[in-house]
Amino acid sequence: MALIVQKYGGSSVADAESIKRVAKRIVETRKAGNDVVVAVSAMGDTTDELLDLAAAVTPIEAPRELDMLMTAGERISMALLAMAIKGLGVDAQSFTGSQAGVVTNATHGAARIVEVSPRRVKEAVAAGAVAIVAGFQGFSKETAEVTTLGRGGSDTTAVALAASLDADVCEIYTDVDGIFTADPRQVPLARKLDAITSEEMLELAASGAKVLHLRAVEFARRHGVTLHVRSSFSDQTGTIVYDPANGIPEGVNMEESIINGIASEKNEAKITVVGVPDAPGRAAAIFDIVGRADVNVDMIVQNVSRADTASTDISFTVPVADGRRVIELLKNHGDVIEYSSLQYDDQIAKIAVVGAGMRTNAGVSAKLFRALYEAGINIDMISTSEIRISVVTRADVLDKALQALHTAFGLDADTEAVVYAGTGR
Ligand code: ADP
Ligand code: ASP
Ligand code: MG
Repeated sequence: MALIVQKYGGSSVADAESIKRVAKRIVETRKAGNDVVVAVSAMGDTTDELLDLAAAVTPIEAPRELDMLMTAGERISMALLAMAIKGLGVDAQSFTGSQAGVVTNATHGAARIVEVSPRRVKEAVAAGAVAIVAGFQGFSKETAEVTTLGRGGSDTTAVALAASLDADVCEIYTDVDGIFTADPRQVPLARKLDAITSEEMLELAASGAKVLHLRAVEFARRHGVTLHVRSSFSDQTGTIVYDPANGIPEGVNMEESIINGIASEKNEAKITVVGVPDAPGRAAAIFDIVGRADVNVDMIVQNVSRADTASTDISFTVPVADGRRVIELLKNHGDVIEYSSLQYDDQIAKIAVVGAGMRTNAGVSAKLFRALYEAGINIDMISTSEIRISVVTRADVLDKALQALHTAFGLDADTEAVVYAGTGR
């Protein structure tokens, strides 16, 4: 008998019919002789709708209340799913994050899991029931408050449960057939991958491929959990996310391609600090202030110093949600930083091309720059890691840039990818 952890995303449980369909799938897995633990997301776009409601009530920030509000979404789907399974004659019990022992730090809206003690989940499974756990939520022992793990965090709930229960399989069910070479909603000819290394998936998730929550991939890597990302709308095999350090999973052929995926992000803004004195400690002063505000800085570019003024410009990108706050901070610290002006641009897009093959193949950047040039697309900023090249372009040319790169790197499939459901919100 195997222990299988399954995670169902919002579009897989969007309405009563979908919940019944998912319940059937879970029951089949259970009846095949497996123990089953399920992590479930809120129905459809519930989380977004709850956030819209909050914004309609007041513009003030109330992180604790927002978490109370958002966790209600998963509470609805977990109870309905448990009922639907019971309706099919199999016992099921739902648990909130705190009941399932998902302990996090105290950061509302982006809590990190610090420990999972799923005693009640184990008891339910031992008693023959399917355990349904509300995704994306936990509680902080420190503050005794309910927390959420950040948007898309149900994936992380599933991986954390799989790790702590030492599950045999962790399946992430979503609205596409697996992980593709690009988001099929943006690049229709995106090709499904049979497998991808967790290292590459980490770069893709960090660069905006929301098919998997970044922390879920980190967690899986740290705890040696192999993932199977697949569709809840078909029976097709999906994509295996694995760490070659733990051996190649059965049936997986290592991809030969140099580039395995392209991801993009529109939710960043570029800030340019103009006229910074070209002297030691100036960059440190800027990023010290930004860092203390807990803002994640992504790309950083410093221009060549101007001989006439001995000053330079420093540009960097931050999440758009933090952009205005960073500008205010820089304005308020004009005495320590020194600059002549600030520029703010939120009409940018970041594109990342990822592939472990970059380590051993020269010429990837040349191909990328040529493809963008031939498509008439200007590059604003560039940054690289060992297996990733990222560029910033104007937001309005994003789709064209993605297409051009996807074709240039030979990733186009023969037929269009299927997107089964969801609004892509
Ligand atoms: P769920 O509700 O199941 O968690 P998400 O919307 O969070 O689903 O993630 C699935 C979506 O991720 C897909 O519908 C697709 O639009 C998007 N996506 C982005 N990049 C990729 C990729 N490389 N492969 C597959 N899907 C991707
Ligand atoms: N419901 C949450 C969200 O929409 C968590 C998840 O779906 O993973 O972000
Ligand atoms: Mg998701």
